[in-house]
Amino acid sequence: MESPLETLDPDGDAVLLITGPASGRFLVSSKVLILASPVFAKLFTSGFREGNQMKNSTRPTITLPEDSPGAMRTILQALHYQGSEDGDSMSARHLAVIAIHCDKYDCNSALRPWIVNWLARFSCIETPEDHGYLLLAAYLFQCASHYARISIQAQINLPPRFADAWSEIDLLDLLPSSVCSDLCNHIHRELRTIHEQLQAGEVALATDGSCARLDCRLCKSCDNTYPATERKCPFCGSRQWDKVYCTRQLRVAQYFDGLTRAGLWPSLGPFDDCSMAEIQTRISQAKGYCTHQCEGDPCSLGLQVERLVDAIEQAITQTTALAWRPIHVLSTARQHDRCSVDHIECPVTQTA
Ligand SMILES: [Zn+2]
Ligand SMILES: [Zn+2]
Ligand SMILES: [Zn+2]
Repeated sequence: MESPLETLDPDGDAVLLITGPASGRFLVSSKVLILASPVFAKLFTSGFREGNQMKNSTRPTITLPEDSPGAMRTILQALHYQGSEDGDSMSARHLAVIAIHCDKYDCNSALRPWIVNWLARFSCIETPEDHGYLLLAAYLFQCASHYARISIQAQINLPPRFADAWSEIDLLDLLPSSVCSDLCNHIHRELRTIHEQLQAGEVALATDGSCARLDCRLCKSCDNTYPATERKCPFCGSRQWDKVYCTRQLRVAQYFDGLTRAGLWPSLGPFDDCSMAEIQTRISQAKGYCTHQCEGDPCSLGLQVERLVDAIEQAITQTTALAWRPIHVLSTARQHDRCSVDHIECPVTQTA
């Protein structure tokens, strides 16, 4: 059965027919497509020649085997002034498929304002694959600055084993092979540094024998600990208090208790499974659990936890973009068409 004809131009003078697993038919303006795409310009020149040979047909049909009707619909709508600004509802995969078609038909220049809008407003990154789709889109759209921003986001938000998910997806083979290995190397290197810092904290705490008063008191009769301001035990009413000390044993116990409650101990699992963003969330949770007030100056527990917080924050803020490797050698004239963003927003706040 033939697909219904979708009208992009009511006075359209050509039909694009997509055949294959998914099909579609579009009534288009050849003039618009000839201006937008050198590839369509060639197709139409030969298409019209064939069309003219057929006596009754004024509308030649151009067959585009195996193209994606969904991606072509988005592209054709944009080129025929019917694009929707609602890029938010687009999936990352759809954007990547659009980019593949834009590259195939060489219409990145004509769609530049749309491309900038799609990439800048894109907000629904849900899976590791989505990072790959977005990188692929920016790469094929030849948007170096968006590619830089997306590659930073990917390094921060991808779990270390993202490549397993990527390898299931044929589309992502279109990325240069160095992309996956560069991302992998960076993520593993940074996580290893943080993991080592976590272990160094354990060693530092285990070797620090100092002892300081804790800013709390222990009820002699019920063994509960309360702020030093309590006069009468809120639990049992006793007024007999013991002093509490911040000792090596207590600090080590609190360190591991905090890490355990935050899901960072045992540490092998989380550092194998979690993205840097997730590790950062867990470290700040652990910091909350480890807090105590003592007269240690500084308390080595607070110091070690703070070092972890600093290490992950530094790793994230100092993440640099993947190297940009242009897909085609561009003429100098076309390089001016590349879009740019004024500044790259903080990737951490864009964590999705
Ligand atoms: Zn761009
Ligand atoms: Zn008590
Ligand atoms: Zn302390």
